[in-house]
Amino acid sequence: MGDAQSEGEGPRCVGCGRRVKTLFVQYSPGNIRLMKCDSCKAVADPYIECEFMIILIDLILHKTRAYRHLLFNKLSMGSSVDKVVGSALLGNIIFMIMLLLGVRFILKLSFNIMRYREVLFAIMISSYFKWFLLTMMVWEFPSSVIFIVEMFVLSSNVVALRVVTQFPKAHCFVVCFVAHAVKYLTERWILGTS
Ligand SMILES: [Zn+2]
Repeated sequence: MGDAQSEGEGPRCVGCGRRVKTLFVQYSPGNIRLMKCDSCKAVADPYIECEFMIILIDLILHKTRAYRHLLFNKLSMGSSVDKVVGSALLGNIIFMIMLLLGVRFILKLSFNIMRYREVLFAIMISSYFKWFLLTMMVWEFPSSVIFIVEMFVLSSNVVALRVVTQFPKAHCFVVCFVAHAVKYLTERWILGTS
């Protein structure tokens, strides 16, 4: 990593660490296309469209890619990316809060830190599905595809929540649906106010 191309400012490919001109092209608010790295031909930084929780898991798993994303790209991004990442981050925080409120007040699960930790873990694991799906695609998503992926994540969240809480499916669906809906509206609202 001592060569000229790895020095200086600017974003980098999370796979090989080389500098890239740009990480993505934005067509319209919330609609971006990730760019490929000239050196290794892989998507330069797939974490841009990633759930915060997934990045966190990869950081905990000591993945070099996740650290490159955080240190080189996230900390030196332009304002438009800040908005995309910021809205995704805020959306995820709101999603988790809504989910826990739903579990507490709709499912009326008595407060127990272990149970709630199980719920959060189940939701994180079942959302991993999204990352798996996204990495298998070509990085150019029409909004209908994103919608289908969200539906998959919603249904896998419902199953995971049902398994850990043992509440009826319909109740778990309501909790997950409300959390997803509020998250979606928050992200749209942030992107819309630009
Ligand atoms: Zn590369």
